[in-house]
Amino acid sequence: MDAREERLAQNEILFREVNERIEQTATPHGTDWHLYEFLCECSNMDCTLRLPMAIATYEEVRSDPACFLVALGHELPEIEEVLYRTSDYQVVKKEGDAARLVTREDPRS
Ligand SMILES: [Zn+2]
Repeated sequence: MDAREERLAQNEILFREVNERIEQTATPHGTDWHLYEFLCECSNMDCTLRLPMAIATYEEVRSDPACFLVALGHELPEIEEVLYRTSDYQVVKKEGDAARLVTREDPRS
């Protein structure tokens, strides 16, 4: 992984940490289907897009520490692979060294 890739991955790690906090404050009582505004976890530090999503959906993405939630068109194919997309968001997955980095930095691990 070169320095640029590492920096981009660090940006995504940062957005994920913010989303962890959104989730923690949003769930006084476990899972419900209210939509919360999670931040797009793409590698662009200036991105301010929010993705309305139920906690359970976010949890599904977060069950793999190498996966991130990004807006449509916010993936960066050179550093991540798109696993699937919906009409509102897509889930990308890191590979190789970047996957090891983001897994190590997972606040839940
Ligand atoms: Zn974005």
